Amino acid sequence: MCVQSGWTPKNGEPRVLPIYQSTTFKYDDSEKMARLFDLKEDGYFYTRLANPTNDCVARKIAELEGGVGAVLTSSGQAASFFAVFNICEAGDHLICSQTVYGGTYNLFGVTMKKLGIDCTFINQDWSDEEIEAAFRPNTKCFFGETLSNPGVRVFDIERFARLAHHHGVPLIVDNTFATPINCRPFEWGADIVTHSTTKYMDGHAMTVGGVVVDSGNFDWEAYGDKFPGLTKPDESYHGITYTRQFGRLAYITKIVAQLMRDLGSIPSPMNAFLLNIGLETLHLRMPQHCSNARVAAEFLKSHPRVAWVHYPDLPDDQCHELAQKYMPHGTCGVMSFGLKGSREDAVAFMDHLHMIAIVTHVADARSCVLHPASHTHRQMSDEQLRAAGIEPDLIRFSAGIEDCEDILADLKQALDK
Ligand code: PLP
Repeated sequence: MCVQSGWTPKNGEPRVLPIYQSTTFKYDDSEKMARLFDLKEDGYFYTRLANPTNDCVARKIAELEGGVGAVLTSSGQAASFFAVFNICEAGDHLICSQTVYGGTYNLFGVTMKKLGIDCTFINQDWSDEEIEAAFRPNTKCFFGETLSNPGVRVFDIERFARLAHHHGVPLIVDNTFATPINCRPFEWGADIVTHSTTKYMDGHAMTVGGVVVDSGNFDWEAYGDKFPGLTKPDESYHGITYTRQFGRLAYITKIVAQLMRDLGSIPSPMNAFLLNIGLETLHLRMPQHCSNARVAAEFLKSHPRVAWVHYPDLPDDQCHELAQKYMPHGTCGVMSFGLKGSREDAVAFMDHLHMIAIVTHVADARSCVLHPASHTHRQMSDEQLRAAGIEPDLIRFSAGIEDCEDILADLKQALDK
């Protein structure tokens, strides 16, 4: 699926997915174009709404996740925003795990608040009763990450899907770190999946991108009053009612027809092409990331200068049981750890690394480190960091696909110094 799905060339067509680097598409008569605008026929007219290269790559990701449809976005942030904004408007509310990526935390907690959408951040360790108490009549979705960035906490998808469905709302899962190779959230009850494709899917740190995938399983009509954007006529689109006209594709069609039309945020076809090259090896890279990470985590765990390691594949990790349930073949290449000593010792350790680079990135072929408290999450106070499961001394380490011995040698020499 990683290698061949999405693009199936017909007789005489290019073997490799072509890059349709064109903003627009030509028609011989205006009637045909009018039918495309009315969504009465499938086809392309303007790349902001749809482009053949982008669509092929989206189709591949939808198949990998087991969904009915997907749309590529210009970044993972855009995917998170679109996934929620497609069903939330001013006056609405969502629930989100407090351990999510700092950018998502900020998007939901600060920026979407300015649009009149409120977010309650919950602790995944809370009891069902405590989490149920966060739901309100205007709650429209529940959001979490399969594996949190950077704390690498495992999201109990089945449990949170049950709670969300009990309150008539969909569960949206950011599956960036696990990828569909290691976990397919739809199989555990999630309704919508998002990704920052910038990470493992691209895998080579070449393109920023995102994707929203729809399982097609959530019954919007059953809660029609909660989701009028999907179940009532869209006056901005010729009075279309998405659920009536598109059935299981209602949610994803609305993202394209309404949000992409009004807000843009498509990737360039060139970036979609590069993402596709990354996807072609995703199933080979993920096992290598996982096996390198497992060896590195065991090495760090046994090192006298290391205070703690969080990696769900370690048997004594607090999330190991959940990891075994949802990702029995491995979680991802990312782990977090802290050194014995001060914050300055953590910084000095990182500065001594040679092959493992300090970069604002994670989850690609090359091993890298980052200190979230002074980089990605620097907008958060120590208190907010701890609430998000991030110790101020936390070093995030992303094991690449290099020879494992090279990774261990670099970690060892920097720790020795
Ligand atoms: N979701 C997760 C889990 C992430 O790690 C990131 C970025 O690090 C994002 C979303 C945002 O993605 P992007 O940087 O592609 O906008």
